[in-house]
Amino acid sequence: MGEELKKPVRGTAEWAVATVDCGLGCPHGCRYCYARAKQVDRLRLVSAADWPTFRIDAGAVQRRYPLYPGQVMFPAHHDIVPENLAACRTVLINLLAVGNRVLVVSKPHRHCIEALCRELQRFRRQILFRFTITARDDGILSFWEPQAPGYAERRASLALAFNQGFATSVSVEPMLDSDDVVAMVHDLLPVVSHSIWIGRMNRIGERVLCDSTEMAREIERIERQQDDARIWEIYRQLRDLPAIRWKESIKTVVGLAPAAEPGLDL
Ligand code: SF4
Repeated sequence: MGEELKKPVRGTAEWAVATVDCGLGCPHGCRYCYARAKQVDRLRLVSAADWPTFRIDAGAVQRRYPLYPGQVMFPAHHDIVPENLAACRTVLINLLAVGNRVLVVSKPHRHCIEALCRELQRFRRQILFRFTITARDDGILSFWEPQAPGYAERRASLALAFNQGFATSVSVEPMLDSDDVVAMVHDLLPVVSHSIWIGRMNRIGERVLCDSTEMAREIERIERQQDDARIWEIYRQLRDLPAIRWKESIKTVVGLAPAAEPGLDL
């Protein structure tokens, strides 16, 4: 069964009333990974050594999912990668076939998105793709998200879904290059039909292992680039664009009210 989300409305609750996964682990190796922090460090569901290898939860793949009372997010604690594409496709069909609206979140591999667009075409109106695109600079991406696709592949995946008539959106959370975020938003807008969410890197001290001087420099850069003054500057430059949405980490800085209930995606 999917994980029912409770208030307060932050994180995935801003987007969905429930989250569904079909396994444990992720090969993308993001250094800020909230899922690894939760499932490895806190819940000890999987060892640190095993985390980079995805392991399928066969029960989750075969489950008969209910019709949730709002948008469901899939996946939430792993990604859709070539190694688990078949399992992810099965879960998506199981969710969609009973009428759910599904938010598909990924650092997209083009091959996976091509397959999903082709095979889920009949459910097109129930699907919202949200691709995590945290920077345009591939040097920054390969440092923070070493095994995830680069910018060109993520943007191409977004364009592919958009051109196939799917609703498309972007998550710029965490911002990895906030000096470039305004320009990146304008580069992505032509292939976004729904929204672009922007958020800070949260709980850096707790989730990011500072294991080198390079890492310390990068953490310092991220913190400097997401201080309140910089957040205000980004907010002023982007607030009039109808597609822009602010995560709770930014709402608290600029004085916007938090989401009133889970899953509004507003
Ligand atoms: S893609 Fe998501 S689940 Fe995978 S390592 Fe990155 S943050 Fe973690």
